[in-house]
Order: sequence, then structure tokens, then C-alpha cells
Amino acid sequence: MAVDSQRVEPRTLDAEDRVGHFREVQRGYTEEEAVAEANRCLQCKRPPCAAGCPVGINIPAFIDMIARGLYREAIEKIKEKNNLPAVCGRVCPQEVQCEKKCILAKRGEPVAIGNLERFAADWERETGSMSLPYPGDCRFNIAVVGSGPSSLTAAADLAKMGYCVTIYEALHEPGGVLIYGIPEFRLPKNIVRQEIDYIKRLGVSIKTNTVIGKTKTVDELLESHDAVFIGSGAGLPYFLGIPGEHLNGVYTANEFLTRSNLMGAHEFPSVDTPLGIGKNVAVVGAGNVAMDAARTAIRLGAENVHLVYRRTREEMPARRDEIDKAQEEGVQFQLLSSPEKVIGDDKGNVMGLSCQRYDLGEPDHTGRRKPISREHGEFCLPVDTVIIAVGQGVNPLVLESTEGFEIGPGGYLITDEVGATTRPGVFAGGDVATGTDTVIKAMGGGKKAALAIHECLEMRRKGKRVGASGRCKA
Ligand SMILES: Cc1cc2nc3c(=O)[nH]c(=O)nc-3n(C[C@H](O)[C@H](O)[C@H](O)COP(=O)(O)OP(=O)(O)OC[C@H]3O[C@@H](n4cnc5c(N)ncnc54)[C@H](O)[C@@H]3O)c2cc1C
Repeated sequence: MAVDSQRVEPRTLDAEDRVGHFREVQRGYTEEEAVAEANRCLQCKRPPCAAGCPVGINIPAFIDMIARGLYREAIEKIKEKNNLPAVCGRVCPQEVQCEKKCILAKRGEPVAIGNLERFAADWERETGSMSLPYPGDCRFNIAVVGSGPSSLTAAADLAKMGYCVTIYEALHEPGGVLIYGIPEFRLPKNIVRQEIDYIKRLGVSIKTNTVIGKTKTVDELLESHDAVFIGSGAGLPYFLGIPGEHLNGVYTANEFLTRSNLMGAHEFPSVDTPLGIGKNVAVVGAGNVAMDAARTAIRLGAENVHLVYRRTREEMPARRDEIDKAQEEGVQFQLLSSPEKVIGDDKGNVMGLSCQRYDLGEPDHTGRRKPISREHGEFCLPVDTVIIAVGQGVNPLVLESTEGFEIGPGGYLITDEVGATTRPGVFAGGDVATGTDTVIKAMGGGKKAALAIHECLEMRRKGKRVGASGRCKA
């Protein structure tokens, strides 16, 4: 084991090249690179990295298999716990989860767990060796609302346990944020589709264009299913509440990214769904969503993309890597600045964003330094497009059309520690229950709830009184 060896960094397309297209920016490891990186793992007896994984992958075991060239065994080990490995290998914030806990992180650079997971998943897909589906005997029927990572995980785990699962998705394509939110250059859609195909091959059926709360209610689902899992996410965008947000040329990041990714606007004119975007764009916010919107705007032809954020680079909530890549690609950071008004012309089109500069004052109760407005700090960005990326909440449709749910202060669905809602037989996980979080945490929620549903149905199979638990459908 070469403990002090340098971490192997995967190749990345040059900024100059990548801004001209939507192809994936980060390349995967070659076999040689993967084996070299896998050999850096210390194979700890009590591995702290595994404790940092919300879906509980046996990380040292799969890394050891890669080190020995046993790639099929490696991907099978990962798939014991993770049904979306090619997705997670690309978008999980490993630096704050498994890799943060790696012993090598304390001495320098942690093992590149995410890149190794991606390597194993890509190897399986590229060599056409996708493992065979589990046979399902449909002992009970489960309905799953939404098809993002929480729902896909719950559905796949339940199918593996032998249940008959139907996913109901509002949009015309399954995948949730993986399909409509995260751009192609970070997460190619053919990879998401292939991982969803694997889940379908486990026996999961997916009904798209079905809005639960309108096409069917949760109560109706409960009549024909033994349990319901809700993974409807947090896709309702917040606005800034400033004058001018109604003008032509103002988008929420949610709409902007959906039109580019799901509606294929980035492929215009070969796809007939253009997205009107000017040459000068302001993106408000500094999370992953804001970085995705800014980098998408550059690829769609904007010449100046300003990212407006009221604190400093240090406090930006996006992943460091995404911030660096946005800057390399030419995104101009307007830090310590906040928008006050969107300015329109006489035809109702955006012609500017009026902003105010700030200084950082003393830390507030959260420990973060509070922005204080600067005297004579007003300025105007001459932009024709404004994209608002300041967070999202839960769409109330499913929750308000169902009786018996307890809803938390932010509009989130209250669940207990295993994902049971206050309505017997209905479980939930992912962003609808936690608020906007990460792909892997949403998957962890789906996994936990799948196990709890299984426990309810096992009790029923054994003839026990299930209603008494308060969690299970009587
Ligand atoms: C642009 C963007 C970039 C991100 N980047 C990252 C990243 O790099 N790494 C990371 O870990 N996380 C990232 N996240 C966060 C992550 O994607 C989410 O935390 C995760 O997708 C939540 O999964 P979920 O299953 O709870 O919901 P979602 O992925 O939101 O899926 C919910 C699904 O439910 C469907 N639905 C909603 N209401 C209904 C209804 N009434 N009936 C039927 N279906 C319904 C929706 O159409 C959607 O398909 C990003 C988020 C965004 C928006």
C-alpha cells in the first residue's frame, strides 16, 4: 500500500473547450488510474469512510476489488447498497461525506472514493455487463410517488425484496432532479437513463404524466396498494420578493434548467424547444443550483454571466469544485452584493438588475458574519436575463390533497426516524421530508423507508396485527 502516494486526479476538459458544448467536463479513470488510486486505500479494520455513507456501501471492500482488477465483483458489492452508482460517483459531495472521514484525509489527500465508484459503474455499463435483475414475485403492491433518487432507491430496494412496485411520476420522464435539474455536462442523461433501466429490469413499473394529488390521490393509491412511499422532492422555487420579477427575461433556475435539460433547449435547433436567453445574464444565489444555471447560460451563448451573492466566496454553499469550474469558465462573481430591483424597458423586457453592495459585520446567532449595506453602494448590472437561484421548497399538492399528514414549519412532511408519516401505511423520504439536501441523503431516506415498509408487510404476512404499530396500514 503506497500510503504517501499522490491522489490520482481524473482528467478534466479545458475550460476553453468545454464552454462550447454540453459534453461531460470530468472524465473517468482509466483502468490503470483506478487500480493506482485503489491501491492508496489503507483497508482500515474499522473503516470511518463507510460510516460517512448514507446508504452504507462497504467502501473498503469494493476498493480492494478494484485494486485486484475484480471490477465485476466491485460493482456488485456497490450495488448491494446503491442502485445508482454512476450517478453517485458523479454528483455526490464525497468531500463532506465518506472522503472527509477517510484516514488519509488527515494526512493529506483522501482516497478518491467517488471516482472509484464511478469507475466501477462505468466499467459495467461500457463492457455491457449489467448484472441480471432480481426475480420479483409481487407479494404486495407498493405505490411510489415521484421518481427522483429517493423514490428510485425505495422502489429498487422493495423490488429486490420481492414486492411489486409502481412509480407515479408527474413529468413525462423519470429521474427527478437527476434528469431535469443537474446539467448534462455534470451528469449525462444517458447514464441516468441506463441506471433507471436497471431499476425497471428489477421489475419496477413507471407511470409518467401522473400527478398525484390531481390524476390520483394518495387515498386512492392506498385503496389499491399495501403501502405508499412519497418522494416528491422540493421543486417549488423561491422568488426574491423584489420589484420587477414578473418581467420577460426573469427565470427561476428551476424553470431555466428544466427547459435546458428536460425540454432539450441546449440541443436547439435539432430539438424544437428554444430557450430565450440574452447576451448578459445575472444569476442570483451561490449554491450548486446557481453554479449549474450560470455554467448553462455560458454554454447557451451568454457573453457575460454575473453571479450575484451577498456574502463572500468563502461562504458560498456550492461545492468548491463547482465554484472553481464556474470561475474557470468565465462566470464573474459579484460578491457582497444583493439585488434590489429588476429594471424593465417599455416593452416589459429586462434591461438591468439594480444591486446594493455590502460589507460583512459581526457574526450573527448562526455564527455567520452578517452583511451590512454599504453607503453609496448602489450599482446596476446591464443584463437582459435574470436567473433566480435562491432555494426551493415543497410543492404542497400531494400534502394538501391528503388528510392526516403532519406538516413541519417549512412545509416539509414530518416523518419518524424510519420515514413513517403520521398517516398509517404512508412513508416518505428525500427532500420532501428533509428540505433540499443531497442525492445520497435522499437515497438514504428511500432506503430506510423501504426497510420500514418491508417490516410492516412481513408482520402482515406472518398474520400479526399490523395497525397497532401506528406505522402500517391496517
Ligand atoms: C440544479 C440542482 C443541482 C443539484 N446538484 C446536486 C449535486 O451535485 N449533488 C447532490 O448530491 N445534490 C444535488 N442537488 C440536490 C439533489 O438533486 C436533491 O437533493 C435530490 O434530487 C432530492 O431527491 P428526491 O428524490 O427527494 O426528489 P427529486 O429529485 O426532486 O424528485 C422528485 C420527483 O417527484 C416528482 N413529483 C413531484 N410532485 C409530484 C406529484 N404530485 N406526483 C407525481 N410526481 C411528483 C417530480 O416531478 C420529481 O421527478 C441538486 C439539486 C438541483 C435542483
